[in-house]
Amino acid sequence: MQTIAERLKTTYARIEQATAQANRPLKSVRLLAVSKTKPVSDIRLAYEAGQRLFGENYIQEGVEKIQALQDCDDIEWHMIGPIQSNKTRVVAAHFDWVQSVDRLKIARRLHEQRPDNLAPLNVCIQLNLDDEASKSGVSAEELPALIDQVSRFKRLRLRGLMAIPKASASSEEQQQTLARLAELFGQYHTKLSNFDTLSVGMSGDLEVAIAHGSHMVRVGTAIFGARNS
Ligand SMILES: *Cc1c(COP(=O)(O)O)cnc(C)c1O
Repeated sequence: MQTIAERLKTTYARIEQATAQANRPLKSVRLLAVSKTKPVSDIRLAYEAGQRLFGENYIQEGVEKIQALQDCDDIEWHMIGPIQSNKTRVVAAHFDWVQSVDRLKIARRLHEQRPDNLAPLNVCIQLNLDDEASKSGVSAEELPALIDQVSRFKRLRLRGLMAIPKASASSEEQQQTLARLAELFGQYHTKLSNFDTLSVGMSGDLEVAIAHGSHMVRVGTAIFGARNS
């Protein structure tokens, strides 16, 4: 069985190869290690192997890990799961990024509750281009209004878009969705300063996501193995 350090190395190599193949600069794609359901000891192994960006889906679990890893003070913590409005305060106090903003109420609360001694909270708006009812995220039609509103919140820094394209789609369908996502991202990237992050691509599809302009791939299984629960 491969170690976490070995799997991480393989993942960096995949990113490097896909980035070169797309004629993009290597540093233009960052790796978010998705550690949900995995123990603190696994995160520590990845950290010791050089990984610094970690993503969590569940608020309580994420905050517990952040607190247990306070000695690793250069970790950048990303919230990537759904957020109920009664949980925004703890998210605003502990995370560096929230990629799963999909409504005004959540954004406003994160803005109001971000502690003054911390830098503005980096946020992405989650887009749902497949219109899957089961998944969070705004539609392309809802996006302009939400971007306009979120970009006014001084305690938030609007960094870009996050999406989880449908797993069952054909590769043609998948490419169409990624192309649409890249086009929408491009519209705002040219208009808004700091809007520099298209977060798309996971263990199974990071290559095609990088080919379509992803700046951040979110990888769980390929680094940490199958999820515990
Ligand atoms: C779990 C998760 C990932 C990682 O998925 P893998 O297929 O394990 O790489 C990425 N993004 C989000 C939003 C997730 O919930």
